[in-house]
Amino acid sequence: MKIHVLPSGPIQTIGYLLTESKTGVAVLVDAPADVWEKVQPLLEKEGCVLKELWLTHGHWDHTQDAAKIKRASGATVRAHQADQHLIETPETMRAYLIPGLELEAVKIDAFVRPGERLAALGREFEVRHVPGHCPGNVLFYQAEAKVALVGDALFNGGVGRWDLPGGSFELLEESIHGQIYTLPDDTTVLPGHGPRTTVGEEKEGNPFVPGARR
Ligand SMILES: [Zn+2]
Repeated sequence: MKIHVLPSGPIQTIGYLLTESKTGVAVLVDAPADVWEKVQPLLEKEGCVLKELWLTHGHWDHTQDAAKIKRASGATVRAHQADQHLIETPETMRAYLIPGLELEAVKIDAFVRPGERLAALGREFEVRHVPGHCPGNVLFYQAEAKVALVGDALFNGGVGRWDLPGGSFELLEESIHGQIYTLPDDTTVLPGHGPRTTVGEEKEGNPFVPGARR
């Protein structure tokens, strides 16, 4: 499995394209604006077809290209039900938009549930629910590859904003302790913005949510 890191759109939100040439299938995690233009040549190069679009959460900067990508590829869109209103009626977030940006609604094809294992690329991805930044934030964990795609729950040296609608620091802290810091220390954390990190590094040095519970 190859992981292509594709920062895109007005606030450099990262779309992660997972490709596996053995199966000819690709999965895209998050759909920032203009990511599709970067995804298409990679699919061609890797000989893969995009079958799945997984949304870590419903914030506009992660979903802006979703409708376009679904139309173009026919990919199955999966997300948590708690963010259905954000994804299917994106005008909800109008107050938080950069002026002039247009949002297009996309229909979720299947809701992901905590503990669910998604089969893709000849692998299994475990879904974990990590609310606090956004009510429907989930992570996708692939044990053999030792990677967790966490959306905006946890960053390298930071955590997601908790002051947006539906956000809560207490909840975020609980999610990080219960669902992320319980993964093996050598798990690579792939966040929705900025550089990657590991579970161990964040437990050791994250200033917002230290590994040792307060
Ligand atoms: Zn977000």
